[in-house]
Amino acid sequence: MLSRSIFKRLSKNLLSPRVQARVQTRNLAIHECYSHDILRKYGVDVPRGAVARTGDEAEKVAHNLKTDDLVIKAQVLAGGRGKGHFDTGLKGGVRIIYDPIEAKMFADQMIGHRLITKQTGAAGKPCNMVYVCERKYIRKEYYFAILMDRQNKCPVIVASSQGGVNIEAVAAENPSAILQRLVPNKPTLDTRIAKELVDELGVSPQCKAQAVDTITKLYKVFNDTDATQVEINPMAETTDQRVLCMDAKLKFDDNALFRHKDLLALRDESQEDPDEIRASRCGLNFIKLDGSIGCLVNGAGLAMATMDIIKLHGGEPANFLDVGGSANAEAIREAFGLIVKDPKITAIFVNIFGGIVRCDVIAQGLISVVSSMKLNIPIIARLQGTNQEAAKEVIANSGLRIFSFDELDEAASKACRFSRVVEMAREADVHVNFELPL
Ligand code: GDP
Ligand code: MN
Repeated sequence: MLSRSIFKRLSKNLLSPRVQARVQTRNLAIHECYSHDILRKYGVDVPRGAVARTGDEAEKVAHNLKTDDLVIKAQVLAGGRGKGHFDTGLKGGVRIIYDPIEAKMFADQMIGHRLITKQTGAAGKPCNMVYVCERKYIRKEYYFAILMDRQNKCPVIVASSQGGVNIEAVAAENPSAILQRLVPNKPTLDTRIAKELVDELGVSPQCKAQAVDTITKLYKVFNDTDATQVEINPMAETTDQRVLCMDAKLKFDDNALFRHKDLLALRDESQEDPDEIRASRCGLNFIKLDGSIGCLVNGAGLAMATMDIIKLHGGEPANFLDVGGSANAEAIREAFGLIVKDPKITAIFVNIFGGIVRCDVIAQGLISVVSSMKLNIPIIARLQGTNQEAAKEVIANSGLRIFSFDELDEAASKACRFSRVVEMAREADVHVNFELPL
């Protein structure tokens, strides 16, 4: 059991908001071109354009747009494409071009390569298609987003008159330039609210009516599709006095996807982590994080608590991993395989609650997996619940270096200590033998 004082400290949300969001919410994100298709269906004004998967297709699309003012946009599920670069050195995932031949040229350089942006990490994400659009002349760029606010249990509209590619900088340096407004959880947005927002943003008088209309329609998209995010950056006022949604990043609540099969079909697994996909196929809920302590836990709540307590003891979890209720040997084998793939791992913390499953059965599974893998990583196991004593005995008699603990606090603190030892040994290039079996 957790002691009261630990529990109190745990409830302070030790994990960063980014990590919390990653493990607590899973959202389907779709490409800009598909987001635009949805907006078009709702009568929202977006640039004319179409997607292409080869250079020749891009040239054709550009040709059919019948204008020499064009933009070519890498379809990669990440923000910051404009300022990103490809692994080939090519600058910019969004390029202004003036000719269908240029569309082909850039498409050939983008497709099949990885785009690195400030949101993708160093590995970047693969670009398998480009979106070729007519280029509109922007007079003013706004940021506009509707998000689901988990804390307040209602949508929140976040908007700024200083939209464009540097919205993160605006948020950091000049937060007062970003307005936030909670809106009632209703199927439609009150026109009064839309009007107030448009006034507050300082939209030009000639564009006000269309801006109100656009915002109202975007809210309808948000509601109808069970979206968790409808983000338009930039929402632009063009020189011909139209309000255009130039970029669109839509995300949908995974728990509502059963009623949106059409959206589910737009999922692009090439943009996701292959290990996370493999894990989900095996019924494991696995999310990679930046730390060094591998976690293998059953139950999402226990997994969160495990990560928290690792942080509390100064460690960093390498992953969130919920092996599910059954936690059978097969699941444990898959889970270990995923954890040890990460070269940063310095310890593995197995924290299993034996409720329906028996701890001794899990211990057997653990032993069979561990003894078949040649690991030089300390394993800390806390198996609590049904048959826990038998489990400890099985582990003690296995001749393997699995360190058993009853208390969560002690187990976590040992995991962190072992992890530091391994880290220091690696840094000093000294061999510490955790090799299994003894
Ligand atoms: P992001 O960098 O991933 O957010 O990609 P965006 O689609 O927002 O494109 C980056 C920037 O390129 C935008 O903020 C605009 O300033 C510019 N941009 C995108 N589409 C157009 C367009 O049709 N016309 C003009 N003039 N600029 C555009
Ligand atoms: Mn954008």
